[in-house]
Amino acid sequence: MKSVTCGTPKIMKPQIVYIICLSRSGSTLLGNIIGSHHEAMHLGEMVAPLDKQFPVKCRVCLDDPCPVWGRVITERDLITTYREFRRCSTKIMGFFALRRKRQGGKPYHLVGRAFPDINVLVDSSKNLDWCKFHYSNKKFDFKYIFLVRDLRGVFASSKRSFGTSLNTFATSASAQIDKFRQFYDDIDSASKLSLSYEQLVGETELCIKQMVAFLSLSFDESMLDPNSSVHHLIGGNPSYIMQFTQSKVHVEMLEQLLKVQLDKSDENYYLKSSSVEMDRRWQTELNDEEKMALKALNPVLSKAVGLQ
Ligand SMILES: [Zn+2]
Repeated sequence: MKSVTCGTPKIMKPQIVYIICLSRSGSTLLGNIIGSHHEAMHLGEMVAPLDKQFPVKCRVCLDDPCPVWGRVITERDLITTYREFRRCSTKIMGFFALRRKRQGGKPYHLVGRAFPDINVLVDSSKNLDWCKFHYSNKKFDFKYIFLVRDLRGVFASSKRSFGTSLNTFATSASAQIDKFRQFYDDIDSASKLSLSYEQLVGETELCIKQMVAFLSLSFDESMLDPNSSVHHLIGGNPSYIMQFTQSKVHVEMLEQLLKVQLDKSDENYYLKSSSVEMDRRWQTELNDEEKMALKALNPVLSKAVGLQ
């Protein structure tokens, strides 16, 4: 693929797209939409095994052979990268201050080598230091999609799964919003795009057109139906797996792998729906105090990532 910059033709570098958002904002859905493009692949949350102590295992293939995880990227590859990342993450001073002799980017390089037709890799890790660690690798163009979801929906999901209180959630969300603001401000405008979950689900085609323009890709109809193809994800929200497999047996295996009990409301919700659908459960699950407090925080989040 070629692009023209200042009148000089140049070959485009492979792109790494990071999805930046609060957990439970729809990043797995967004990653799968982009990953459904024939030139793109969604890898899930590359840093999840380190952040959440998950095994390096594809959530779709589980113990079956996976074309990506365990084959293209082995556990040893990731552990080596994590060790490097840990070593330098305490020294990260600022987005452009990072200069390392040993560069990040190795996992993306391994995937790129195994799948030469893929030009866009999506990593839905939400760890900003992880994004900064790889940034020094000049073989890639790094792009950032900031995804904002109505905080009432984000909180309802967290409350449902972990019993999170309003105060704990609001404090943590405010701190993360501050970090997002700093990160967003440091990135040049050509490398960042902001979207809302509500827009993504309500006006999917319009959002896809914005994203393909941002990534210099052609429009691909497959992106409208992200559940029709397999995405070999590590980490990421188990809801996609539920939606994709439509299988309670798979969900039970996933529970064993992650050593968690998946939320039954999620299970019922996702097993019954097979398409991209707006999750509005917060409307009945939250009380008035929770709704009011989070409604007031919504504009702060939107403003931090340039969405008004
Ligand atoms: Zn797999």
